[in-house]
Amino acid sequence: MKNLTSPKFVKEIIKKHGFYFSKGLGQNFLIDSNILDKILEGANLNPEDGVLEIGPGIGTMTQALSRRVEKVIAIEIDKNLLPILKETLEDCPNIEIVYGDILKLPLEEILNDHFNNKRIKVVANLPYYITTPIIMNLLEKELPIESITIMVQKEVAERMYASPGGKDYGALSVAVQFYSNPSIITNVPPTVFMPPPNVGSTIIRLDVLEQPKVEVNDRRLFFSIVAAAFGKRRKTLLNALSTGNLGLEKEFIKKVLNNIGISEKRRGETLSLEEFARISNNIK
Ligand code: SAM
Repeated sequence: MKNLTSPKFVKEIIKKHGFYFSKGLGQNFLIDSNILDKILEGANLNPEDGVLEIGPGIGTMTQALSRRVEKVIAIEIDKNLLPILKETLEDCPNIEIVYGDILKLPLEEILNDHFNNKRIKVVANLPYYITTPIIMNLLEKELPIESITIMVQKEVAERMYASPGGKDYGALSVAVQFYSNPSIITNVPPTVFMPPPNVGSTIIRLDVLEQPKVEVNDRRLFFSIVAAAFGKRRKTLLNALSTGNLGLEKEFIKKVLNNIGISEKRRGETLSLEEFARISNNIK
């Protein structure tokens, strides 16, 4: 079995295939077996699991996953990595590499074809330039996913995990916590990647809920209210909701907030998911 976390091996294989790292595609490959173990342990894997990996790179995590679970589907956008993956993963029969863009491929179909709609686990060292769209795409589509264990930029993990009132709490916190329970596994320094990124990283697991955390009558309205509340962070709730895209009358919002016992002077960043839901459900 090839040691894919060895920096010497990584250098040799990319040289052999004439591969160059693409900064634009967020290519920072893992070269530390301890951190690899932490991601896998954090993902709580079982031998009967199906796993979706996003961006296998040269196959470091893919190879390790293949030894622990039943089947791995790995989606990679960079054609130049395909011959490398063929070589590094030649001894792993339970892996399938799908070539394409994670944001454009028909994920529902892929998961159905490969896992027969069984709930799967996502495990990935994500390309940082599209972290938020990838996560929101996985969550909003309500795919059959049990958990998402990912390496992301430290600041993004802090935003996903944040509670009301703090500086990191925002629309991303609400959206992620609407669909899942996040837990931080560990922080990771840039030195465990080749090449090292210029930001710190964090491994975070999102345990996807069977039902969203709060009940809302109109999901679009709920997220429009959240966007409006955080779009004007310094404004009071009344001002944030009565200006901009939402287009609601000031008097109407005053009445709604008053009826449900939420002060119009509060700022959006102090509201819990339950409070956002209460506002939304009393507007419509
Ligand atoms: N998993 C490998 C590891 O840990 O060493 C590589 C991780 S690297 C941070 C991110 C990977 O995502 C790269 O292989 C990159 O080519 C791939 N990638 C970037 N954008 C992508 C996209 N839109 N769809 C699928 N893969 C993508």
